[in-house]
Amino acid sequence: MNHSISKELFEKAQKLIPGGVNSPVRAFKAVGGNPIFIKKAKGAHIYDENDNQYIELINSWGPMILGHANEMIAEAMQKVLADSWSFGAPTRREVEMAELIIEMMPSIEKVRLVNSGTEACLSAVRAARGYTQREKIIKFSGCYHGHADSFLIAAGSGAVTFGTPDSLGVTQGVANDTLIANYNDLNSVQTLVDANENKIAAIIIEPVAGNMGLVLPEKDFLEGLRNICDKNNIVLIFDEVMTGFRLAKGGVQERFGVKADLTTLGKIIGGGLPVGAYGGKTEIMNCIAPAGKVYQAGTLSGNPLAMSAGLAMLNYLNSTPEVYQKLENIGEKITSGIQKINQKMGLSYTLNAVGSMFTLFFTTQKVFDFGSALQCDLALFGKYFQSMLKKGVYLAPSQFESLFLSTALSDENIAQILDAHERSLKEIL
Ligand SMILES: *Cc1c(COP(=O)(O)O)cnc(C)c1O
Repeated sequence: MNHSISKELFEKAQKLIPGGVNSPVRAFKAVGGNPIFIKKAKGAHIYDENDNQYIELINSWGPMILGHANEMIAEAMQKVLADSWSFGAPTRREVEMAELIIEMMPSIEKVRLVNSGTEACLSAVRAARGYTQREKIIKFSGCYHGHADSFLIAAGSGAVTFGTPDSLGVTQGVANDTLIANYNDLNSVQTLVDANENKIAAIIIEPVAGNMGLVLPEKDFLEGLRNICDKNNIVLIFDEVMTGFRLAKGGVQERFGVKADLTTLGKIIGGGLPVGAYGGKTEIMNCIAPAGKVYQAGTLSGNPLAMSAGLAMLNYLNSTPEVYQKLENIGEKITSGIQKINQKMGLSYTLNAVGSMFTLFFTTQKVFDFGSALQCDLALFGKYFQSMLKKGVYLAPSQFESLFLSTALSDENIAQILDAHERSLKEIL
């Protein structure tokens, strides 16, 4: 496979852009080699600058849940253009978007639209702090909530991949207000809550974690968090930037039946354009300016083009429940196929999966938190990644990521993925 143009572009990019990429997870640092530069995509396939074709298992880290260049979403965006695409003033689509989000996510009573998942999470925490008039938050080791200062502490994939779990530039003062608990370990949460009575504003969590590889909440873990929050007047924030509109129409909260006080959304919500949102209980959301005294703003928030793409996406997901069954089936076919191949080869690697998300961990130990995720054989994963890429399957370039499936994957694509998996294992082991 010829990657000459990607290589040239990357060489140039490294002189112009830090590390040659605009988001660290795009670099191939953890797996070796240069990132491939994408030229275009359609359905289940992406094409690089040298016109190599790959089956897509990242889908822009989630948003392209219907596959690439979906015509319905493209048409919705085209309709906007003649009427101009930014006003910095209220528009009808924002109201429609808010209404739709509230319908799809039952714990959300009021919602504010922003431009990224990062913004959603940092704003939700600010809202919780304003509402409770408390300063500290609890987050979980290995969970990622965007790159705001308070979250860059034990922050999962991007940070771990580069061996800097704590970013330079985050002050000790900020770090002191972020307490770290272990995923699936209620005792670690209770201990922090007991030691910081009436000081904790919020617990923020990925209720299904996708940023240390895919890690599922064990039975009663989310309920346990709900109880601790209720008893101690702590705001429970579910970061559903990845899982919202993916694991079910109403995200993890619908699928696992536990409700958050505040929810953060991103990725799918913009249909591939930059959109985020945070919302929840009216009482808390009414603290946000101009209704209340917690300031949060955005020049491009609710941008017409982004709203049109997001509305087309969410309307479709809301009115087409079959889509979720289809995603389950695709996920089941791929993961059971991988398991079968692994068994046939006498391998018992851990595969965590739910719906259209999964991670194959190169460890035989159970992966239930960040510590157990770190047991993986990263060198072997790197070889596997490269081998899959050569066979035309584009995986996330880090062991500590989930893969994201789209409805565009056909049975033929699935067979190709499984064939590449089997041949890759044979090659690298
Ligand atoms: C991607 C992600 C974010 C950050 O969203 P951006 O749009 O990249 O800022 C936050 N939380 C989770 C769980 C994510 O997966």
